[in-house]
Amino acid sequence: MRYVSTRGRAAALDFREVTLAGLASDAGLYVPEVWPTLTRDEIAAMAGLSYVDTAVTVMAPFVGETMTRNELRALCEQAYGRFSHAAVTPLVQLDHDQWLLELFHGPTLAFKDVALQLLGLLFERFLTGSSDHLTIVGATSGDTGSAAIDAVAGRAGVDIFMLHPEGRVSDVQRRQMTTVGAPNVHNIAIRGDFDQAQALVKAMFNDPAFAGRFRLSAVNSINWARLMAQVVYYFYAAVRLGAPDRAVAFSVPTGNFGDVFAGYVAAKMGLPVERLIVATNVNDILARALTSGDYSSRQVVQTPTPSMDIQVSSNFERLLFDLGHRDGHALAEQMRGFEGSRAMRLTNAQSEGAAALFAAERVDLDDMALAMRWAHEHACQTLDPHTAIALAAAQRHAGATPMVTLATAHPAKFGDAVERATGTRPNLPSRVGDLFDREERFDVLDTSYAAVSEYIAERAVAR
Ligand SMILES: *Cc1c(COP(=O)(O)O)cnc(C)c1O
Repeated sequence: MRYVSTRGRAAALDFREVTLAGLASDAGLYVPEVWPTLTRDEIAAMAGLSYVDTAVTVMAPFVGETMTRNELRALCEQAYGRFSHAAVTPLVQLDHDQWLLELFHGPTLAFKDVALQLLGLLFERFLTGSSDHLTIVGATSGDTGSAAIDAVAGRAGVDIFMLHPEGRVSDVQRRQMTTVGAPNVHNIAIRGDFDQAQALVKAMFNDPAFAGRFRLSAVNSINWARLMAQVVYYFYAAVRLGAPDRAVAFSVPTGNFGDVFAGYVAAKMGLPVERLIVATNVNDILARALTSGDYSSRQVVQTPTPSMDIQVSSNFERLLFDLGHRDGHALAEQMRGFEGSRAMRLTNAQSEGAAALFAAERVDLDDMALAMRWAHEHACQTLDPHTAIALAAAQRHAGATPMVTLATAHPAKFGDAVERATGTRPNLPSRVGDLFDREERFDVLDTSYAAVSEYIAERAVAR
C-alpha cells in the first residue's frame, strides 16, 4: 500500500513513513493510492467479531507490508485494552431507529483516544530499532492535547511538547495534560490565546533552522493513521445494525472533517452507508460548502462546542482530492486560491460527488439544548454538547434507515453546558477520579517565538 499527496508533488510513501511524517512536503495530505475494498461476505463475517478483530480486518490493507497481522493485532489489543467498556465503542439505542455510538470510553473521555491510543503505539513500534527520535509539537484548545499526551506518555523514542493557552482550557482538560508526570511529556502554558499558540507551532514547522535540527511530527487529524483507526467503528456499528444487508446512516459532529471523512473511507471500502450527515455548530463553513459550494472562512464564533469552533477544515482537502478526479495539481491550485483569499468554490464534480453521500446541517444553540433535553427526558441519556449537535442534525433526517449519532465526548468533560441544558451535572467516571489530587507540571511562557523555540530546543533530542 502506497500513499500519495493531495497536492501531487511529494513522493509516495509507505504506511510507516506516512505515519511518522504527518503532513506531506508539498503541504498536501496523504491518502491511499487506491481504496482497498472488502467484499459483502467479508463484511458479513464481521458480525460476530470483537472490536479488536474488526480493527485488524479493516486496517490490515492500509498497513500493508509494514507489519504482520499478528503485530497489528497485538497493538490493537494494547490500545483498546485501556478502554473502560468491553465493546470499546458500544451502541446505545435511543428510539426505534436512532442510535448513539459511544466513542468516549478511552482514558481521556473523548473520541480522539480511539485513534491516538493506537497512534502512540505505532510511533513506538516504527521507531524501535531506528536511530530516529520524534519530537511532537502541538497546540491544543483541550481535547487533542490530553488524548495525545496520554497516548505517548512514557513511550520510547518520542517527546511531546504541547502548548495550551493559559487559563483558557477547562480544569479537567488542563489536569489531564499536566498531571501525567512522564519525563517525555512537556506542557507549556502560553500567555495568549489558542490561535497564538497554534501560530507558534506553525512557525516552528516552517523554520528551516529549527525543523532541520529535530524530526518534528504532528498529532492532529491530518495524520493518516488517525483517520484509519476511525474507519473501524463505522464497520463495527453498521454490522451490528444489519450491514451489509441493510444500509446505515451516520450523523457526525464535525470540526476538522477527520471523523466524518473516516465514514467516507468506510463507504469507499464497501460498507453500505446511506448518508453521512455533517453536523456543524454556527461555525458552518462545511454546511455552506456542502449545500452551496461556497467554502469561505468567516470569523470563528466561540460556542459550548469548542472542538467544532473551526473555520478551516483541514481534512476536507482529502475529500476534494478524491472527488476531483485525484488531480493533485488542480487541487494545489484550488487550495492556493483559498489560502490567498480565505474563500473558494467547489467544482461541479466536487459538489455533485459530495451530494451523493453527504448531507449537512447547521445546528444553533437552541436546537443543541433541545436535543440534550430530548435525550435526557426520552432516552435516559446525558449527551455532551458536541454529540447533541449531531443528534439534532440526525433528528432532521429521521427515516426508515437506522441512524447512528457519533457521541464524541463524555458529558462530564463539558459539565457546565450539560447542567445548563438539563439541570443535571454529570459525574466524572471513577477511572479519572484522582485527577484533582495529582500533582501538576507545566511551565508558563510568553507568546514569543524565541522563548518557546528555545525551551523546546533545550529539551528535545536532535536528529
Ligand atoms: C475533535 C472533536 C470533534 C470534531 O472532530 P473532527 O474530526 O475534527 O471533525 C467533535 N467532537 C469532539 C468532542 C471532539 O473532541
